[in-house]
Amino acid sequence: MLNKKSVEDIDVSHKKVLVRCDFNVPLDKNTGEITSDKRIVESLKTIKYLIEHNAKVILCSHIGKTGQNKSLEKVSVRLSELLGNQVIFIKEIFSDEAKKVIESINDGEVVLLENTRMFEEEEKNDEEFAKKLASFAEIFVNDAFGSAHRAHASTEGVTHFLPSVCGFLIKKEIDALDGGINNPKRPLVAIVGGSKVSSKIDVLNSLLDKVDTLLIGGAMTYTFIKAQGGRIGNSLCEDDKLQVAADILNKGLEKEVRILLPVDNVVAKEMSENADTIITNINEVPDGYMGLDIGPKTIELYKQEIEVANTVVWNGPVGVFEVNKFAKGTEEIARAMSNSKAVTIIGGGDSAAAVEKFGLEEKMSHVSTGGGASLEFMEGKKLPGIEALLDK
Ligand code: AMP
Repeated sequence: MLNKKSVEDIDVSHKKVLVRCDFNVPLDKNTGEITSDKRIVESLKTIKYLIEHNAKVILCSHIGKTGQNKSLEKVSVRLSELLGNQVIFIKEIFSDEAKKVIESINDGEVVLLENTRMFEEEEKNDEEFAKKLASFAEIFVNDAFGSAHRAHASTEGVTHFLPSVCGFLIKKEIDALDGGINNPKRPLVAIVGGSKVSSKIDVLNSLLDKVDTLLIGGAMTYTFIKAQGGRIGNSLCEDDKLQVAADILNKGLEKEVRILLPVDNVVAKEMSENADTIITNINEVPDGYMGLDIGPKTIELYKQEIEVANTVVWNGPVGVFEVNKFAKGTEEIARAMSNSKAVTIIGGGDSAAAVEKFGLEEKMSHVSTGGGASLEFMEGKKLPGIEALLDK
């Protein structure tokens, strides 16, 4: 069980606190305006706690990729509106003026530093750069779950120089993911979908050590079906992963984990809204057709498994949910989870996008905010931005 200190376990009053947020918000290509402020809103709990506890708050984050040189200025404006208080934006992080501003901030005041990825040292986890960032503060709070799987200067490097704890967002992610996967109420059912077996090998292998039942969906189904000798037509398949798929099925037998593959599917000649579709058995996809969603029998089968589960963990859509014609399977899985009594945990990325598309976010126990980070967590990997925090 991960037991990391949080912002509540350390005295922050009158202290300068550097907070790594996830302000990597989408910006409109033409106007540069923020198109969704969800990530800013989610960061408020930790920031407000620090303000209320008389800390001097210094926020930092990346936005976009290194080299894109996107600015966090618009974020500071939105954050000021949300807090009802002026956030001081510091454009030149290492200028003399910035130093003066940071040295003179009062208790409860908030400063936002410009995009850490303006500096290539950030992603290199450069020690000197991390030391300079850390020199602004006396305590470090990491609240950027979406970046916790990366050992960058502002997520991991700074922890070498400051007592470091997590904020409320990371705490919520750890409690939900760690509790749901490593300490679940059983039966634990995992649903793994998505496009490729190759990108899910680690998560499948790791989950086989933990779950009672594994439901497979999405395009990767067809690598499993072909490995078993089925006909898959033009469905996506990784021919170099047939043995991997067979090994995973064998490991399931050894570990007495029930692995369920779809029994039927929706197939079409093209992946478009206007395509004509037919339903076939999963191992009888006609030539010229590809499987793009799970079929009605599979939906019923998987719903029954979700109904008897006490914990359900989901990573990866079971069909091409972006195209309405092939979204039904993914929607039905999401609905069954939202109606179930189980603890329901949605890995970030595409599954979170699907749940949002169907308006079911509020009905899940936890929807992770980090795609890559939640996948690595489910793979059983240690996330450097979390590992580096103080233990309780
Ligand atoms: P991943 O990033 O590996 O989780 O894959 C997610 C993507 O898999 C989504 O964009 C889905 O549209 C896609 N996907 C799911 N099922 C299928 C399928 N049967 N055929 C092709 N793509 C699929």
